[in-house]
Amino acid sequence: QPGEKVALPDNFAFDNQQPQIIQGEKFQFQTEVSRLMNIVINSLYKQPEIFLRELISNGSDALDKIRFQSLTDSAALESNPNLNVTIAVHKDKRIITITDTGIGMTKEDLQKNLGTIAKSGTSEFLETLSGDKADMDLIGKFGVGFYSVFLVADKVRVTSKNNNDEQYIWESTAVDDFTIAKDPAGNTLGRGTQIAIHLKEGQDQYLDDAKIQQLVSKYSEFINFPIYLRRTKT
Ligand code: ADP
Ligand code: MG
Repeated sequence: QPGEKVALPDNFAFDNQQPQIIQGEKFQFQTEVSRLMNIVINSLYKQPEIFLRELISNGSDALDKIRFQSLTDSAALESNPNLNVTIAVHKDKRIITITDTGIGMTKEDLQKNLGTIAKSGTSEFLETLSGDKADMDLIGKFGVGFYSVFLVADKVRVTSKNNNDEQYIWESTAVDDFTIAKDPAGNTLGRGTQIAIHLKEGQDQYLDDAKIQQLVSKYSEFINFPIYLRRTKT
């Protein structure tokens, strides 16, 4: 049931971090979200790379929001003055991270934005789909959003820090529910959001720096912030 206490076994521990059990609360996805995820996964499996377009675009939106806020609140940027997106590949763990220093999400934002369909029109859009070829093209053009990450991921962890809350972790394997926990590591981001993607079997092409670089060039054309690619050492 919602709010049920659960433990997150940690396979997102990077480098020198020790794996640890994180206590969190379990929440169900809104029915429409489960439906959207099924439609996205069943219709876009031939173009899984769009997950990167969607995540870069969300990072850019979040950066726009904090920059806009800073126009009237000059202290807003103090939590992290750099405005950028950084992508890193952790080959040995089969994890890609996409980190932005944007506005970040509070616990409530995580629960609402990554658990329901807030955008009006999406539900109506879903109702009109019949599942033929034209629809597939339509879905591709329509911003399918965050949930497209499950085209390539079997497990996703979103760590986020907004100026108005502590740092929280959202984690899901896309099956029915997600978990939210206060990050026991404290505020490691300063401000912003890190999406850690554990790749499904068969999606290893995204562990290749050259492949990621090619996709970043393709999708960053209209992004007004620097996007850094941290190369793997191995
Ligand atoms: P859209 O971007 O069209 O609103 P998405 O599914 O891509 O839809 O994202 C849903 C919501 O989740 C966004 O509107 C935003 O509020 C929140 N969100 C997603 N990614 C981020 C991020 N990197 N930083 C801050 N908020 C985010
Ligand atoms: Mg989006």
